[in-house]
Amino acid sequence: MIENNHEGIFKLMLELVSVPSISATPGEIKMARMIYGKLEELPYFKNHPDYLKLLPINNDPLERQVVFALVKAGPSVKKTIILTGHYDVVAVEGYGALKEYAFDPVEYTRRLSKEKLPEDAAKDLESGNYIFGRGVSDMKCGLAIEMALLAEAAQNPCKLSANLAFLAVPDEENNSTGMRGAVSHLMELEKELGLDYIAAINCEPSGPGAPDDDHRYIFTGTVGKIMPFFYFVGKETHVGDYFNGLNATLMASYLNIALEARSDFIDFKGSEVFSPPTCLKLKDLRDAYSVTLPERAVAYYNLLTVSKSPAQILESMKRAAAEAFSMAVDHLRKTAASYSKKSGQDIGISWQTKVITYGELEEKVCRNFPGNMSEHVKHYIASLPESLDERDKAISLVGELLKYYPDKAPMIIVGFLPPYYPHRGNLGRTEEEKNVMKAVDKVIEEARQSYGIEMKVVEYFAGITDLSYFGFQGKAEELKALSDNMPGWREIYDIPLNELAKLDIPVLNLGPSGKDDHKYTERLELSYSLNITPRLLKFAVESLAKS
Ligand SMILES: [Zn+2]
Repeated sequence: MIENNHEGIFKLMLELVSVPSISATPGEIKMARMIYGKLEELPYFKNHPDYLKLLPINNDPLERQVVFALVKAGPSVKKTIILTGHYDVVAVEGYGALKEYAFDPVEYTRRLSKEKLPEDAAKDLESGNYIFGRGVSDMKCGLAIEMALLAEAAQNPCKLSANLAFLAVPDEENNSTGMRGAVSHLMELEKELGLDYIAAINCEPSGPGAPDDDHRYIFTGTVGKIMPFFYFVGKETHVGDYFNGLNATLMASYLNIALEARSDFIDFKGSEVFSPPTCLKLKDLRDAYSVTLPERAVAYYNLLTVSKSPAQILESMKRAAAEAFSMAVDHLRKTAASYSKKSGQDIGISWQTKVITYGELEEKVCRNFPGNMSEHVKHYIASLPESLDERDKAISLVGELLKYYPDKAPMIIVGFLPPYYPHRGNLGRTEEEKNVMKAVDKVIEEARQSYGIEMKVVEYFAGITDLSYFGFQGKAEELKALSDNMPGWREIYDIPLNELAKLDIPVLNLGPSGKDDHKYTERLELSYSLNITPRLLKFAVESLAKS
């Protein structure tokens, strides 16, 4: 039995938290089974077993599953509202000696009271209105709220004006394998069960914008994230013969200066402005010490988007790479001039700027490849250690293809690495999008009238969420720049692009209130999250259903 009230949601949340469903571990499989098991006990799903499913994720070596449940409205309707969320959590290394209590919030909170905490966390602990633990905020409370609402709807489906679906996925904190795998299922289920998705609501947590901010937030979209990479091919030479070579790390350094935190790559919409590009990895590709200039290096960047397409980003990254290349050459020319003057030798620097895309590399190699290149690529990827990070697999594949690339001159190869999250906003283009905005207005009014709470609408949730995969807001061709330029597309990482381009479900995020997600001080604000969020969510669903 799941009760849709303060106690019921709290109890369910603790049960969900007790399973350590850390991304990419067997805990995720256990979590899916528990969620499924809880719903399976409801009389509604005993009578309608076809409406509760554990769905496989295509090509997932860990064999994780997506939980899907549906409560159909009494008088048959097509319109369906999806409640969604992720059931994985991030790791607990930061919990130190208290790690074993991370999944027992009551005990963990008790033990934290004996620890020295950062000021804001200490104040919250002292208030008694917060509970600490891994996943309490991100996002097992949100899942419990959704499940409780679904359970309540299942008791009396005749009262519903729209069908209520529930979709819980793994791996959101990692590569979003769950939600990417769910896209095709959503399309099939829509047909199979006669549904028409009018909105998807996520219950990711959001905290106050600043310590003195007492607004609550509702989000009508989610920011996009894309990861351009740069593979630098220099020229090796002994350090004693410096000017005969080109150090790949010099190009990488200039690229980082050209791109890190660069203001004209900051994407924004209205007054919502997002973080600038930042380098997530920059390394040479040599494993051993040598007195030779490093010939290869790689760097990849996090870029947040709310307007730019992969094709546009590829073009601007090519320009940044060309800029970096010529800055490196200028740098060497200055040094060579000074060296020539001192030594009396005539040293020239003749490197020509060369930037190609990964797609161009692949195409050229394919033309010259002795045999079947795609078979070779498949075998090569399969031969890489399973434990290797997806990004490192992709980078390794670039190196493999370079063996067959005829031109050995220095160059920079530009492409993308996984994961990719398209941005998704409410553009007010469709009837469904307009209805969602009307429902949002009603929720804000309800929050003010019934609870004296001021809610603010924010267009893009900045925290990167699975809501990105409820449809691509652009032309399908614009995604081609992504798939053509991601090494190991389909073998290492995949998004069902055709389905993604066809899906168009307006999204909302209306979640509980939490702080310090992913940290050892992750905590949930109890009164708002257990008393008010569930009522506002129910109100939002009812408003949408009636639209
Ligand atoms: Zn989350």
